[in-house]
Amino acid sequence: MTDTAALRHPEKAHKPDNPVRRAKPDWIRVKAPVSPEYHATRRLMRELKLNTVCEEAACPNIGECWKQKHATIMILGAVCTRACTFCNVATGKPDQLDPHEPERVAEALGKLGLSHVVVTSVDRDDLDDGGALHFARTIRAIRAVAPGTTIEVLTPDFLRKDGALEIVVEARPDVYNHNLETVPRLYGEVRPGARYFHSLRLLDRVKELDPAMFTKSGIMVGLGESREEIAQVMDDLRSAQVDFMTIGQYLQPTPKHHVIDRFVTPDEFASYASQARAKGFLMVSASPLTRSSHHAGDDFAKLRAARLAQIASAG
Ligand code: SF4
Repeated sequence: MTDTAALRHPEKAHKPDNPVRRAKPDWIRVKAPVSPEYHATRRLMRELKLNTVCEEAACPNIGECWKQKHATIMILGAVCTRACTFCNVATGKPDQLDPHEPERVAEALGKLGLSHVVVTSVDRDDLDDGGALHFARTIRAIRAVAPGTTIEVLTPDFLRKDGALEIVVEARPDVYNHNLETVPRLYGEVRPGARYFHSLRLLDRVKELDPAMFTKSGIMVGLGESREEIAQVMDDLRSAQVDFMTIGQYLQPTPKHHVIDRFVTPDEFASYASQARAKGFLMVSASPLTRSSHHAGDDFAKLRAARLAQIASAG
């Protein structure tokens, strides 16, 4: 483990290294981030002291997304209080909450001029509300600066934070996203601080609170799950009335992170996409480089159109 990696993931430093697959299949290769727009997006994030999950999670799509100024802002600091074994976001003692962050997020999004934004966060188990009020303040700050921009939140599970989810839903984001990340059998090793059925219940509850709000959730594949288990997750998400499912390939960020079980082929992703569509999701994105926030703006437009078409055909 490099010194930087040990500093970012202190809880993993004592663990033995897992083998890292250096050779990636052709379908995983991405272009280096070199465009002027990429650098302008990076400068803006630095100037406004904002964190992005694109950088913190070492997302492979950063060159493509930032070229179009599609950055996913990560609020509530850069340090997570959980220690999921797939995730590259730094873990440890969380940052002090910055009360001015919501306004800076809104300022950045005003400058980027996006029609759709995705706001996510680290987990803040140390805060009484898990950071829910900060999410709500951020949504309201964006609405004040850019009323025409649609807002997608990708939140933590707010485990043991009664009333937190309600605070975020009340601020009326357009899309509520919460990722299941993997199949229930692998939770102990992949998301040790989380509970599968709690996450599922959270998604279900969003629909109870606001049936018109779009809900979205995703999993990574290549962690050791079976096809039957993926099908079960699809069924569980449909029973929670989730509208949009994403499925992408897990990539191992360091030797201390969960090992890659296998690279799922594009054909297998295509079969998951048709299977999920057949189960009734309004939208499905399943491909090796699918991430929750990848193409989120275009996908939101399709999601809205799919709902309108569904309503029209039912009427
Ligand atoms: S896919 Fe999401 S996390 Fe990755 S670079 Fe694009 S916006 Fe950022």
